[in-house]
Amino acid sequence: MTAKFSVHVAKENLKFSAAHFIAYAGFREPLHGHNYQVGVYVEGGLANTGYVIDFGLIKKLTKEIVDRLDEHTIIPADSDCLTIDGPADGRISVRYENEEFVFPASDVCLVPIVHSSAEELARYIWNQLTNALKARDALTDVTVIEISVAEGPGQSAIYRSEIPPQER
Ligand code: ZN
Repeated sequence: MTAKFSVHVAKENLKFSAAHFIAYAGFREPLHGHNYQVGVYVEGGLANTGYVIDFGLIKKLTKEIVDRLDEHTIIPADSDCLTIDGPADGRISVRYENEEFVFPASDVCLVPIVHSSAEELARYIWNQLTNALKARDALTDVTVIEISVAEGPGQSAIYRSEIPPQER
C-alpha cells in the first residue's frame, strides 16, 4: 500500500454569511441566514516541491469562491420548484407556488444547484475549486479533494471525491 499525505485548510477567512431557504415541492423554509465555514481537505502524493499542494493557492482560490457567496442571498438556479425571472430592471424575482420574493439583482448569487443545502453547496465549491486548481496545473499530485461546509458549529456537510488520473 502506498503512503499518502493529506493537508487540511479551515481558516477563519474561509467563511461566508449568506441568506437562503430550502424549497422543494410542498415545503419551503422561511428566508434565513447562516455564517458558513468552509474547510478543504486534500490527499495526494508528495510533489517534488515537498508539498501535496500549495496551501497558499488553496486558501486564495477558496477565498475567491466564498467571497462571491458572502453577503448574498443564495438562489439555486436549477431548482425544480422555484421560477426565477431576471435579472431585469436590476431585480430578480423568485416564485414558489403562489409566493414571490423580489431581490435587488446585486444581492443575489444564482448558484447552479437544485437546493441550497450545505451538501449541494459543498459539491458546488468542490467543482469550482477543482476547476480552478486544474486551470493552474495544480492537481498533478492530488488524488482526493474533500470540502466541508458548516452552517454553524458542529453541523457540517461534506462532499468528497477522487480525482481520476486522467482529470488531474
Ligand atoms: Zn438554512
